[in-house]
Amino acid sequence: MKKFRLRYAPSPTGFLHIGNTRTALMNFLYAKHYNGDFIVRIEDTDLERNVDGAIESQFDNMDWLGIFADESFKKPKDGFGKYMQSQKFEIYKNYADKLIQLKKAYKCYCTPEELEKEREYQISKGIIAPQYSKKCLTRTDLKNVEKLSFNIRFNVKENRIFKINDIVRGEVEFNSKEIGDFVILKSNGIATYNFAVVIDDYDMKITHVVRGEEHISNTPKQVMIYEAFGWNMPIFCHLTLIIDETKKKLSKRSGNSMFFISQYREQGYLPEAIFNYISLLGWSPKGEQELFSKEELIKIFDENRFSKSPSTFDPNKMKWINSQWMKKLDDLNYINFVKKFIDIKKFNIKEKEKKWINDVLLLFKKELEFGQQVNEHLDIFFNKENMDLQTIEVLKSFSNWKDMMIYFKSQIQNLNSFEEEELKDLIKKTGEKFSLKGKELFMPIRIFTTLSEHGPELAKTIKLIGKQKILKNIDSIN
Ligand code: GLU
Repeated sequence: MKKFRLRYAPSPTGFLHIGNTRTALMNFLYAKHYNGDFIVRIEDTDLERNVDGAIESQFDNMDWLGIFADESFKKPKDGFGKYMQSQKFEIYKNYADKLIQLKKAYKCYCTPEELEKEREYQISKGIIAPQYSKKCLTRTDLKNVEKLSFNIRFNVKENRIFKINDIVRGEVEFNSKEIGDFVILKSNGIATYNFAVVIDDYDMKITHVVRGEEHISNTPKQVMIYEAFGWNMPIFCHLTLIIDETKKKLSKRSGNSMFFISQYREQGYLPEAIFNYISLLGWSPKGEQELFSKEELIKIFDENRFSKSPSTFDPNKMKWINSQWMKKLDDLNYINFVKKFIDIKKFNIKEKEKKWINDVLLLFKKELEFGQQVNEHLDIFFNKENMDLQTIEVLKSFSNWKDMMIYFKSQIQNLNSFEEEELKDLIKKTGEKFSLKGKELFMPIRIFTTLSEHGPELAKTIKLIGKQKILKNIDSIN
């Protein structure tokens, strides 16, 4: 079998986001499942729209996610052309000239004003989708043509039926009469996307084109170019849309979700979790399992399991998957990972507290959904000096709270060591003395010791807050 070669072809007009990561990832999985090559090609012909730093950031975030390219402009291989379109202007021009020789393309000298007039005329005649009239195909009225600037247009044959077999959509048919003679090389010498992409995929011996469904409308033009050159077409696979909770295409304007991979990285998501969740957007494995490593996904990938309907990006699901991956970390890796997200301006960890903070972080291992969330939990160990009014109300709603507090304080003062076991016993003893259990017992103790209604395991928390601060907290209540 011929080696599969798939490519991710970002335009450096922006940064890596959920949508283009899904494209990169599916190409990567598809290639790796079949022991093929995954290639990154930069489509940077639209020079004005290129954004500084976008290319570097795309590679950096892909590396972080574990989507590694076998070939790219950083790792070029001989015999597959260039990995960046801006280095191929000459090549596109030569191919365009070749199409002119073959009479499959021609020079169009029409000015923008002429083209606009033609369009307006067609619209006035009730034509909904105006097309170029092919005027320059047979034009003889121009003088000094060598001095005029021109676009090169593809000569679309009328009423031809083309068929493609798309992995996701099955057989797709179109009639060339719906397509006007489109420009393949602009007067400034720059190839248009539909032309360059075919030349590149051919040069790079791409076997499968996996991309978003917004490109399906471009495919007919590309198919005609393949045919004009007599080249074999790759297999096409157009992935369905990723939509947000309002059913619109997911974008940076989508309300409830972050869009860029760097945002998730900063918030403390794990690359394994993002990889895992994005692989389930528009694709699903057999069975109910939802947590998969990259290696498992490569193994179980199946191109027949792409979804035919749009997939909804669910930020809560993403969070859940991340929390599952955080739980899988061993304690040391978990601590090292979460530590990076502590807001050090707010929670200043002193040298002697380094071991202690590790134990504090471990308290939250079962509940953290992402790294930065740790900052919502640390108040009780650091800054908390006063209770808010609502918490005071909750405390005062328990009838025995004051007597319990006085008792608890006196018992704490008598404790020889301040360890989890002893504190558990003390909580139990308090329950017996006041004939309380469950929430009636734990909630008041939690509030007068930690000054908060919420927190992890009570005895461990009290121990880690430390005797001195616990006594201070109790004293702050009156
Ligand atoms: N450069 C195109 C994009 O960013 C990709 C085109 C393709 O995959 O054919 O959408």
